[in-house]
Amino acid sequence: MENTNIDWSNLGFNYSKTDKRYVATCKNGKWEKGKLIEDETITLNESAGVFQYAQTCFEGLKAYTAKNGKVVVFRPDLNAKRMADTCKRLCIPELPKEMFLDAVEQVVKANASYVPPFGTSASLYLRPFIIGSSPVIGVQACEEYHFRLFALPVGSYFKGGLAPIKIMVSDFDRAAPNGTGDIKAGLNYAMSLYASKLAKAQGYAENMFLDAKTRTYVEEAGGANFIFVTKDKKIVTPKSDSILPSITRRSLLVVAKEILGYEVEERKIRLDEVENFAECGLCGTAAVISPVGLIHTKEKDIIFNGDETVVGPVIKELYKTLVGIQLGEIDPPADDWVREIV
Ligand SMILES: *Cc1c(COP(=O)(O)O)cnc(C)c1O
Repeated sequence: MENTNIDWSNLGFNYSKTDKRYVATCKNGKWEKGKLIEDETITLNESAGVFQYAQTCFEGLKAYTAKNGKVVVFRPDLNAKRMADTCKRLCIPELPKEMFLDAVEQVVKANASYVPPFGTSASLYLRPFIIGSSPVIGVQACEEYHFRLFALPVGSYFKGGLAPIKIMVSDFDRAAPNGTGDIKAGLNYAMSLYASKLAKAQGYAENMFLDAKTRTYVEEAGGANFIFVTKDKKIVTPKSDSILPSITRRSLLVVAKEILGYEVEERKIRLDEVENFAECGLCGTAAVISPVGLIHTKEKDIIFNGDETVVGPVIKELYKTLVGIQLGEIDPPADDWVREIV
């Protein structure tokens, strides 16, 4: 089954074409039955809503080989729910959860030879998205939509093992209060590109964004949520209506509390208290957790663990436990966390 032409250990995070993708159309508010196709291109009218007013949203999840050899996906029901929530906010007819899960299953099965073997830390990345596909010129929602789910093999995020990153507090804002920060809309990323470019030019891997209203509280990074560990080993994560609800972060909180026995708390976190934390990490599907070694602020550099190159013990334990659950080496807190596909 395995695709012998792929060097699993040298994969990056770049687009490559696999065999099949799932497509479905929504007309008159109804999602029609989808199907697998081979064509990786899309032909659209020049005035399609996605081109004119950015009516588009996406999700991201991974399929990989568990220890027992089964191909599995981590909590795809939560991606389905989040995509439906995003649709609602963007005036896109909600994609039914069953259809999302069926697309995941069909695409993984049809591209099974691209799922990296167990032990490579590589995975088959799944990218579901929806675009407004019918023409609009006055500002309004489209009448037709295109849903597509494609897959591509991607490499391990940490090639040389878990390594801390340096980040900086951005002068830009990611999301407005009562805006779209809590949904997975493409538009949230278009406006983060410039801030990201500036951070990278200064040697930082990511931005820390603050709340747009007061610029006092920690929100999140461009594409990952924060998790902090206090000196007395409590797990704390920012609470805000403009943060994207990361499935990785929500899972880590359950794991921390129910499996590892840590106290966990979701609350507003001021930037000026961050220096009191012992450890910091960024969570998202791509890396599970990226340990943060240093945060550059206008006033000072905050260094965690007394050494910006050291991965904190609690962050490391959380990372190992969640990855262990994903790979079927540790029992999950609930049976439906790891969904078997093939
Ligand atoms: C996707 C995303 C995350 C991470 O969410 P996961 O479900 O853990 O992958 C965090 N922040 C933003 C802004 C995102 O778009």
